[in-house]
Amino acid sequence: MGLSFHPDTVSLPVGHFIGGEMIAAEGAIEMRRPSDGKAYTACPIAGPEVIDCAVASAKAALKASNWGNVRPRERTKALQAWADLVEAEAETLAKIEALCSTRPVGQLVAGDIAITAEQIRFFAEFADKEGSELVPTDDATLGMIMSEPYGVVGAITPWNFPISMAGWKLGPALAAGNAVVLKPSEMTPFSAVYMAQLAVKAGLPAGLINVVLGDGSTTGTALTGHPEIAKVSFTGSTRAGSAIMENVARTGVKPMTLELGGKSPQIVFADADLDKAATAIAGSVTFNAGQACVAGTRLIVEKSVADRLTAAILEKMKAVRPGPTWDEATQYSPIISERQRARVDGIVRAAIEAGGECLTGGGVMDSPGYFYEPTLIADVDQANPAIVEEIFGPVLTVQTFETEEEALALSSHPTFGLASGLFTSDLSRTIRFARKLEAGTVWVNRYSRSRDHILPTGGYKRSGIGKDLGREAYLANRRTKSVLISL
Ligand code: NAD
Repeated sequence: MGLSFHPDTVSLPVGHFIGGEMIAAEGAIEMRRPSDGKAYTACPIAGPEVIDCAVASAKAALKASNWGNVRPRERTKALQAWADLVEAEAETLAKIEALCSTRPVGQLVAGDIAITAEQIRFFAEFADKEGSELVPTDDATLGMIMSEPYGVVGAITPWNFPISMAGWKLGPALAAGNAVVLKPSEMTPFSAVYMAQLAVKAGLPAGLINVVLGDGSTTGTALTGHPEIAKVSFTGSTRAGSAIMENVARTGVKPMTLELGGKSPQIVFADADLDKAATAIAGSVTFNAGQACVAGTRLIVEKSVADRLTAAILEKMKAVRPGPTWDEATQYSPIISERQRARVDGIVRAAIEAGGECLTGGGVMDSPGYFYEPTLIADVDQANPAIVEEIFGPVLTVQTFETEEEALALSSHPTFGLASGLFTSDLSRTIRFARKLEAGTVWVNRYSRSRDHILPTGGYKRSGIGKDLGREAYLANRRTKSVLISL
């Protein structure tokens, strides 16, 4: 049996979590399990009064605990205790997440949760290592760049990796001395509530993490526009990121970090290890059924090896093992909702209508859950909908090139610049491409993150502003003050 479980046995923390307490709220948005389509509960929608209450609780917690100004090592220790508890409670947390989301329970325990605990510890270590600095001035003055937390950070996360995304926001904000009001996605909100409960159990001051449930238009708008939210940290679509910028511009300027959408290329040269490339490329579009911001959905391959590589990728795409997220053996995820699956299918149809040739997949799977076949589409030009749109599903396109210039031209996307992959054994070409690719991440002879959390992640172009992970994410949660003293 191991980690597998029956989905009707999981108890969910349904409600807002404010000031260390669960706040009961009426369900408003029907929620269905992606794995079998069964309705299981409803997500409440926090209005402005709930946001007021959460922000007030965050401010009160900062004041009572002096979190922003305690000895920094105390913050490190408290966050480490929280990370330990997240790990100790991994099975319960994984059940909550697997029930509601597209993340299989086995991958959650070994991957998402283990890595999130590690990332919380990584950020905790910055608390007593990054700080204010003295700057060179003349003898008669002392100049200082004083670093301080913002106060209350408003964070908003998407549904595709709910625990990881919550960790990316909470870890650096808390380590940097802030309190947080977090609004997780209305489709997958409960794992964040449970993580916040664990934080209080681990000894973090109640009210330091507040989780408000709700949608974008009511809850998200109230949160980002709240006058006492000092900084916004957002991960989600480029469309929602633009709406947040507009709302913030209208309600009061404040700094923001925006981690947005992508449409990332994977460029393969004939001199690459093609077996390795096929594994990485197929893995990148089938992992979480392609519902990853960095999914490498545009294969751009040197013509002479295109047939060979495509055949190897096809074989791997066909070998996926779909199953319910509560089965430990499941490798291949459902799509988050019926609506999102219909969107994926709509773009695939439009791509074929525009001249694309579907080499495999291209349809919904025969299952009560929202599964979609891994899909490979060839013969697409730069205007094809499958090239232009972020599909957020298991769909890969294939384009071919004969020269480096052609490869570079095809890899550039008018809107997105989140990640990119390059497969080659030529070192000089690697450097040329690393310099020229317009993306926040360049992976060479691999297509995935490692556990080197010091490498920041974020987008060029409309894929975002600012970074998650790395030192940059910590520093983005501090503001600086210039102090000049006449001696
Ligand atoms: P989404 O933009 O629809 O929703 C994300 C979050 O924003 C949700 O919590 C939602 O309720 C909220 N939201 C929506 N409109 C809002 C508004 N006007 N004001 C405030 N909040 C609002 O995205 P999604 O469908 O949940 O997630 C998929 C998207 O997230 C994809 O575009 C993907 O590329 C992106 N993503 C990016 C990264 C990254 O690191 N760049 C990571 C994961 C996901």
